[in-house]
Amino acid sequence: MLSDQELDRYQRHIVLKEIGGQGQARLQSASVAVIGAGGLGNPCLQYLAAAGIGRATLIDDDTVGLSNLQRQTLFTTADIGRSKVQVAAERLAALNPHVVLNPVARRLTPDNAATLLAGHDIIADGCDTFATRALVNRSAVALGIPLVSAAIGPFEGQLGVFAGHLADQPCWACFAGAPADIPGNSCADIGVLGAVAGLIGSAQALEVLRLVTGFGEPQLGRLWLYEGLSLATRSIRVPKDPACPVCS
Ligand SMILES: [Zn+2]
Repeated sequence: MLSDQELDRYQRHIVLKEIGGQGQARLQSASVAVIGAGGLGNPCLQYLAAAGIGRATLIDDDTVGLSNLQRQTLFTTADIGRSKVQVAAERLAALNPHVVLNPVARRLTPDNAATLLAGHDIIADGCDTFATRALVNRSAVALGIPLVSAAIGPFEGQLGVFAGHLADQPCWACFAGAPADIPGNSCADIGVLGAVAGLIGSAQALEVLRLVTGFGEPQLGRLWLYEGLSLATRSIRVPKDPACPVCS
């Protein structure tokens, strides 16, 4: 049930016929695990908290550094050296006290992934290594939880919505393969335009909201690609790989 205060807070959602009071109530009872509280996790969490997601678990073992502030807009100069998930949880609680926040200042590992991710309705991955992405995908398929996976390059981004636990749906590995062998390029190595992180992280929040409330066209099994130098976008369907070692 939404309180009078919440009805006021979410009024701009509630007037949308695609969301309405029912969609807002669904958001209130939904939970999301967000992996990475960096360039993608910041805007994703900000919009999910503002939108009134019920519960969010923030997973990241990193601390705020000066070079993060160019794109990670939940943090300020005074936060340098502090735990990212701790600072993010404070800012999000100030933004929307109705959201239950669970900051976990740990790196996701094969040992803790199932425990940390179980019990969530959706997983949003914005982590910084291919190995962790592959681990998140394996965990999502094993736990039967839909995954909204986002990644960015210097001027480009991609966003995929996966439910690989379903017989007819691809998982992230169906298109990415077994990328544990691929050396990851970090933002520190190759650079990234801050606003691109903001755009893709916000789009990631949008897809979480779509999964919860069901507005518009379902995006399961689709990959959205953004190229910022030319401002080109496209959306492709990912086929389920019958030889995928994760989901088939
Ligand atoms: Zn697969």
